[in-house]
Amino acid sequence: MTLVRDYYETLGLGREATESEIKVAYRKLALRHHPDRNPGDVVAEERFKELSTAYAVLSVPEKKEHYDRFGFLGDANPFSSANVASATDFFDAIFGDLLGLGRRKKSTGRDLRYTLEIDFEEAALGCHKTIAFDRAEDCGACRGSGAEGGVAGLTKCGRCGGQGFQRQGPSLLGGRRECAVCGGTGEVPLVSCKTCEGAGIVDKWREFDVSIPPRTVSGSTQRVAGQGSPGRRGGPAGDLHVVVRVRPHKYYVREGEILVVEVPVSMTEAALGTEVEVPVLDGTVKMKVPAGTQSGSVFRIRGKGIPQSSGARGDCHVRVVIETPVNLGPEAREMLARIESVLGGAATPARRDFRAQVATREGAARDAAAGEAPGHPGAATGGAAGKAPHAPGTEAGVGHHEAPKSTTADAGAPPYRDRNHS
Ligand SMILES: [Zn+2]
Ligand SMILES: [Zn+2]
Repeated sequence: MTLVRDYYETLGLGREATESEIKVAYRKLALRHHPDRNPGDVVAEERFKELSTAYAVLSVPEKKEHYDRFGFLGDANPFSSANVASATDFFDAIFGDLLGLGRRKKSTGRDLRYTLEIDFEEAALGCHKTIAFDRAEDCGACRGSGAEGGVAGLTKCGRCGGQGFQRQGPSLLGGRRECAVCGGTGEVPLVSCKTCEGAGIVDKWREFDVSIPPRTVSGSTQRVAGQGSPGRRGGPAGDLHVVVRVRPHKYYVREGEILVVEVPVSMTEAALGTEVEVPVLDGTVKMKVPAGTQSGSVFRIRGKGIPQSSGARGDCHVRVVIETPVNLGPEAREMLARIESVLGGAATPARRDFRAQVATREGAARDAAAGEAPGHPGAATGGAAGKAPHAPGTEAGVGHHEAPKSTTADAGAPPYRDRNHS
């Protein structure tokens, strides 16, 4: 290039052009003069290079500023000695493969993702699975060309003239869509391949053995290199990603190496003690639930948890949950009411203490409202509630807000007492 045109002029813009105006102008003109759309046209090639040079300078603020002040001085001209290919790469880097040219070359196959669902036990202990699916592959009969006789049986697409796309509407930017006849390849079979009916690809049923190691967690992925979609026309294949999803278990939760099992027992079983069969990963284990077991109590079974890399097994934690009786008939209702009246506060000390504390607060609040001097707020009855013997059937704590405020023995006691002391 002997004559160097002003970069703004090259893009058909004035000096005041904005960043986005520069970009739009470049895209518009570069598309028009793109060498792949003007094969063999040396003038278009030169123009394309010129446009890319202008844009490479004006799209970078520092270079643009330098150019605005000093003109062509400096090394701001990236394509001055470069070839057209580097300018097209530059264009593609900014706008992507707008021309859909990748389709005409060989292409890399897509990565495939397969979600493999396995059971909790399978994930914990490890397992082998076979996965199978239809995979689109190049038709062997036509080697992916879609033409009877292979690539030699292809001819230039008549609809798009070999471009692979068609223009829609008057605007250069507005409408470009892939040619519906050739699917963007620019070529069509003279005679369609009988095996794939001209598509060039066929679905093939593929099976893979997948080995799931112990301690696999949901979301872990195994990559099987080269077993994704095969590349088109000799391009490399993509990878197969097997994503493991572990089905949630109704009773199991995994906490590291610990297997947590929730075991429901009835109210009476928990009170009287019982023996339960605990399901573990491989079989069941008998476990004693002692009398007086509280809801949420956790018992440990050694060596029945998640396998470790060392080969040992973690522990199993059994969380006992008391299932409150529901769907009571009249008889059960009556009996439970009787049981409640027979048990009294000593059978449920935590509940008794809790109520006593609440009652104390209510009493204090009422006393304060009555204008009495705040002598021993909240502490007056704390000890009394815990120590006073209760007749069966009386609700623990009820009536204690009537206790005399002068009881100061336990003033300063913590508001909630350890229930074991009561
Ligand atoms: Zn076409
Ligand atoms: Zn075929």
